[in-house]
Amino acid sequence: MRLARRPVGEVRPEDWAHVTEPVPVPGDGEFLGRTRYLSLDPAMRGWLDDRPSYLPPVAIGEVMRAGSVVEVVASNHPEFQVGELVSGGFGVQEYAVSDGRGVIRVDPALAAPSTYLGALGMPGLTAYFGLLEVGALKEGDTVVVSGAAGAVGTVVGQIAKLKGCRVVGIAGGPEKCALLTEELGFDAAIDYRAEDVRKALHAHAPGGIDVYFDNVGGEILDAALTRLAMRARVVVCGAISQYNNETAVQGPSNYLSLLVRRARMEGFIVFDFARRYPEATRELAGWIGEGLIKVKEHVVDGGVDDFPAALGMLFRGENTGKLVLRVG
Ligand code: NDP
Repeated sequence: MRLARRPVGEVRPEDWAHVTEPVPVPGDGEFLGRTRYLSLDPAMRGWLDDRPSYLPPVAIGEVMRAGSVVEVVASNHPEFQVGELVSGGFGVQEYAVSDGRGVIRVDPALAAPSTYLGALGMPGLTAYFGLLEVGALKEGDTVVVSGAAGAVGTVVGQIAKLKGCRVVGIAGGPEKCALLTEELGFDAAIDYRAEDVRKALHAHAPGGIDVYFDNVGGEILDAALTRLAMRARVVVCGAISQYNNETAVQGPSNYLSLLVRRARMEGFIVFDFARRYPEATRELAGWIGEGLIKVKEHVVDGGVDDFPAALGMLFRGENTGKLVLRVG
């Protein structure tokens, strides 16, 4: 799946070129992987814009960048054997050649392969470092997370619960809200499509918000900023409500509440913590194994040609938990 042109606003089918090419042959020190699970990530929208960011934009004609789990089907690499499952940035394609750099071995005893793209992969690590390091979480904090029923949000809320916090999730629709409170242990959930978020935050976080973990930006960020506790930490993880904007990003109109509440607002990129992935992955795997973190995944079956449609699901809120495409 190659990028055919730069999208304007929402990504359209015409922005992609699904091409058929010969399967590459691995050279010395390389292996060939066949894609089993493809990760769909909101950040992909940003990678399509031609503007400076934390990663270079995907070039026109380039295979779309993506994390995936592949099965090694041919190998000239001493450390990777045929039949193994590995995860890495192999792109939106059926086959990929790799020299093994940045590749993580999937341990089926630890978790399902798809979980290496979700709770045990980039979204789980984002939740872990965003909440514990950037959010400087403390026991007893009141934590509010937006995009709460998504890949990152479900893990943020559950980590906060196991650390002894009060957790309020903001998500779209009654089913997602019920999942948060009835299955994932959140103390309260706010359906931003049906409720007045400001009023609901007032009701569910009467003492104010100590950590606001923001996945969506826009009006919900504005609402959360009105309810900060003293010395609150606002973690800027993402702003999916703004990614398809054709105009400027909507900034918080009430940022002075940071001043009044002596609060801190800090952005981060999970890659900043790459050296500490092994320790975080071990801890996340332990929590998953003990049932303290329930893994929520939304698996769509299809082929690489279903990638554009699957990507669109994220922006319409059609996924619950980590969205992955199982490539048959
Ligand atoms: P999710 O699984 O949360 O999927 C996206 C969700 O966003 C949808 O299900 C939808 O849920 C919600 N959404 C979509 N449009 C809107 C909107 N206009 N307003 C409010 N909510 C909306 O995705 P991820 O967990 O993978 O990513 C969550 C956030 O984390 C993203 O902003 C992403 O960019 C960011 N991120 C940041 C990283 C970093 O290093 N800083 C790393 C990884 C992710 P609903 O039905 O509730 O609206």
